[in-house]
Amino acid sequence: MSYSSQEPEPPSSSSNALFYDDETRLAPSELTSQDRATVTAAPQPLFAPSILPPLSNSKASARCRAFRRRWYPNVSQTEWNDWRWQLKNRITTLREVDRIFTLTAKEYEAFGRRKGSVRMPVAITPYYASLMDEHDAAHPIRRCMIPVSDELKCADGEAADPLGEDGHSPVPGIVHRYPDRVLFLVTPTCSNYCRYCTRSRKVGAAHGGQLGEATWDRAIAYIESTPSIRDVLLSGGDPLTLSDENIDYLLSRLRRIPHVEILRIGTKVPAVLPMRITPQLVRILRKYHPLWMSIHATHPDEVTAEMAVACTRLADAGIPLGSQTVLLKGINDEPQTMRQLMHGLMKMRVRPYYIYQCDPILGSSHFRTSVDKGLDIIQSLRGHTSGYAVPTFVIDAPGGGGKVPITPDYYVGRDGTDVVLRNFQGKLYRYPDTAGEPVQCSMDGVIPSNDPEGAA
Ligand code: SF4
Repeated sequence: MSYSSQEPEPPSSSSNALFYDDETRLAPSELTSQDRATVTAAPQPLFAPSILPPLSNSKASARCRAFRRRWYPNVSQTEWNDWRWQLKNRITTLREVDRIFTLTAKEYEAFGRRKGSVRMPVAITPYYASLMDEHDAAHPIRRCMIPVSDELKCADGEAADPLGEDGHSPVPGIVHRYPDRVLFLVTPTCSNYCRYCTRSRKVGAAHGGQLGEATWDRAIAYIESTPSIRDVLLSGGDPLTLSDENIDYLLSRLRRIPHVEILRIGTKVPAVLPMRITPQLVRILRKYHPLWMSIHATHPDEVTAEMAVACTRLADAGIPLGSQTVLLKGINDEPQTMRQLMHGLMKMRVRPYYIYQCDPILGSSHFRTSVDKGLDIIQSLRGHTSGYAVPTFVIDAPGGGGKVPITPDYYVGRDGTDVVLRNFQGKLYRYPDTAGEPVQCSMDGVIPSNDPEGAA
């Protein structure tokens, strides 16, 4: 088999019929039964196909089509829908960014001062660029991708590896912090580079030489020889930028380890490169259940028809989907924005899982918002929307302490045997915490009589 953790392979003609097509003008809401069969086709179908969710954000797709026609007039919709074309044509240089976007002085400066440095690269798939405002530098998604000069300044408490991952790495590619699970960093490559990335010290082409066959084999050998590991999270970089063959290889090796019960993949691909979720890929993934997926989602503008199709394919293959969101100043730190994102995810069958306080990586102060903002957001969700739509707000403790959940004060304290609670409206209630200590009371009129004569 071919091994590669380097930049992805050249474009192929792999079909991705569920996405819009110039020739047929096919929209996801107009799928034929044959198209639906394409999504669910698999050698051994385990799950019944579901109805595609309503694609309410079709505006984004119209915008996407208009963007392609304007900036890529010679590119067919078929090429656009080929994930390899998207990867090969990522926007990476100042010239390419400048062609499409009206840049600010801070954005120009960031590009100018980056020259010759080993800072995280810039890469934006044309698809993801189509979701950005070309003229407004404050647009939330744009701010996540186009660097500004602020990222060249360091603030107190910031570090290249604030979570101490390198100190918990017994072999290259493995971070072993919790007793029963490991993080397996399978590639340094991402389709898009988020300016606030926790692993900005590692991701990108400059680090491309670190992984490969030997590194994977050593990491897998470590997992094989450590029986306490029952859960492996494949991350990076983004594992779904690897070829189908390499993903198949890695998952099959891990699935053969008897003590590994759960496999998970952490990815941003469904949001930034949804055409990567091809029927072929899904057929591979579903062979390795129980396989879970954590999708990195940032803003409701990512919730498009294309992302909905990608998530539908994954969910129909029986892959439980969860989300991870980094709390970012001026991007998603308003309750209304976060609620819209959580609801959008739920509609795509993605269960909101974590909101992270932004890690203090070098040059991230312009992204970090206060912990209180995160608490406000959780408070605005809890009780006001379905519990499934309320993620856990966590701080990944600097130095390697692991994820610490942060919750608003619903537990006020004790008063005698009572626990005093504050509900979502701020009202106080008491819960009699007397389990195991029966007290004398009358149950007359409360418990039905045991007398058969009196029974109905
Ligand atoms: S996709 Fe994930 S690993 Fe890649 S740059 Fe973004 S946050 Fe970092």
